Amino acid sequence: MTTVVRLKLILVLIAVLAGVTITLALPPQDSTLTTWTPPSTRKAKTPFAPRPLGGDNIFKGEAEKWLANSIVKLEVGFLMPIDDKFVNEYLSQVGNHLVAHSVAPAKQHQFIATYDLVANAMTVGGGRIYISRGMLNQVENEDELAGVLAHEIAHDAFGHAPKTVTRQLFWMTGVRKVKTAEEVESALAKLLAEYEKKPLAAIGESLLGFARFDELEADRAAFYNTYKAGYNPHALATVLKRMERDMKEEMGEEDGWAQFIVLLFGSHPPTPQRSMAFSWESNFVKMPPKDSHYQSAAFNAMKAKVAKLPK
Ligand SMILES: [Zn+2]
Repeated sequence: MTTVVRLKLILVLIAVLAGVTITLALPPQDSTLTTWTPPSTRKAKTPFAPRPLGGDNIFKGEAEKWLANSIVKLEVGFLMPIDDKFVNEYLSQVGNHLVAHSVAPAKQHQFIATYDLVANAMTVGGGRIYISRGMLNQVENEDELAGVLAHEIAHDAFGHAPKTVTRQLFWMTGVRKVKTAEEVESALAKLLAEYEKKPLAAIGESLLGFARFDELEADRAAFYNTYKAGYNPHALATVLKRMERDMKEEMGEEDGWAQFIVLLFGSHPPTPQRSMAFSWESNFVKMPPKDSHYQSAAFNAMKAKVAKLPK
């Protein structure tokens, strides 16, 4: 047997073995669940969509992953991921469909659902996006879910987390360079310790309005991203308004002080300001009917699954 033939045989053997492993690794199909189909995408040009620009960021390339790992380890490690295969696959399909129509179509993303009952979504950078069970309960159709995910995809694409940490590290600790994963973790730990010493610094950051600018930028990018991906771009505004209404009901309309606190310390701009941005963007694209949304059986199946999760 010549070396080439032997090599070919070995390759065939490897292929056969790999095939067997793949077949064995495939889980039994759950026939009760619906497969997801994407909405029809839109090809329109969106010249007014925001684009990621420069800005100080010491966490580029590999360092962005180091930062994401450190944030997860030091700040969000307590969040428990939902281990439901259908929910996770559905989220990753909708999420990756959005990514393909976002400003960062080539970036690898991970979509993680957590057990947290508070309605929330966030990115830690590095394409790692978290969405809580509370938020999955909150969204009423796939367009609203897409709006929330697209907002986080934009934060991630625009490097809002790494840029914020770059800024904070410089002002709070004087750090202006990181060379290893260990350095990133210890710099972040040092920053958190600084904030514990001077809690006013954290408030200052949100009062300066940097975070609010980031939020509006993510909203605008989400508008165009959902539009191109085939969803109703107004859906994010709809879910935001509903959340604000629920929150006001919970706190009581009379409680002006509580609302003032939310306005002052919440990193998100007030909803009317965000809604205005959405209606401004809608001048530049051909909008679908106001309350229309994509009919997705898989979305309904996901909601039913999430509703049945243990408390
Ligand atoms: Zn945001």
